[in-house]
Amino acid sequence: MRITLVATPIGNLEDITLRALRILREASLIAAEDTRTSAKLLSHYDIKAPMTSLHAHNEHAKVKHLLDRVQNEQLNLAVISDAGTPGISDPGFLIVREAIQRGIPVETLPGPTAFVPALVNSGFPCDSFVFEGFLPVKKGRQTRLNLLKEETRTIVFYESPYRILKTLEEFAEAFGEERRICVCRELTKLHEEIVRGTIKETINHFKNGTIKGEFVLVLQAK
Ligand code: SAM
Repeated sequence: MRITLVATPIGNLEDITLRALRILREASLIAAEDTRTSAKLLSHYDIKAPMTSLHAHNEHAKVKHLLDRVQNEQLNLAVISDAGTPGISDPGFLIVREAIQRGIPVETLPGPTAFVPALVNSGFPCDSFVFEGFLPVKKGRQTRLNLLKEETRTIVFYESPYRILKTLEEFAEAFGEERRICVCRELTKLHEEIVRGTIKETINHFKNGTIKGEFVLVLQAK
């Protein structure tokens, strides 16, 4: 009986560890954020373990039910999200906390996550950094930006393509348009793009044309 959080690729299907594949193959049950998304990955690697859903909307109720099953049926449960490491801006934290409280062994496999390659590839100091994930969309957003104005470590953000330009404009306002930033789009995928420059330069780069894909923003410290 155990729970294993398994990191899955953030784009390139080759980015999965041998251990992740073995744990997924041997799992009694796989809890996936979106079973249709994960079915593609599992079928690519011919993994046939049964799946159930564990997403943000059912997480609280489902965690209790799943852990009851793990204990009653002595299951080896693997937890995966749509991409990257579960728990990192994805469901995962609640099941880990509850499993620890119940005394169920928990293990997290090291593997893909979007912020690590973005941070390391930015060229900004990465000995000490802040991971902000997604900024709050409305309430609390300005408060966080104000707090981060004084931050003396490199700061990493996740952002969606719909808000990226607005966020860069808010960054220019909060941190000054000459602050340097590294905008990483579609990491590990065919159309990976890394844009390094001042906030002003990256706004100019993205403001013409449609913006597609997933983004990590790495902001230089104060
Ligand atoms: N659990 C994931 C991880 O470990 O990185 C993060 C999941 S979060 C719901 C999705 C966000 O991660 C995207 O909006 C984007 O900011 C970032 N992301 C995920 N994959 C990415 C990729 N291939 N390139 C750039 N950013 C990515």
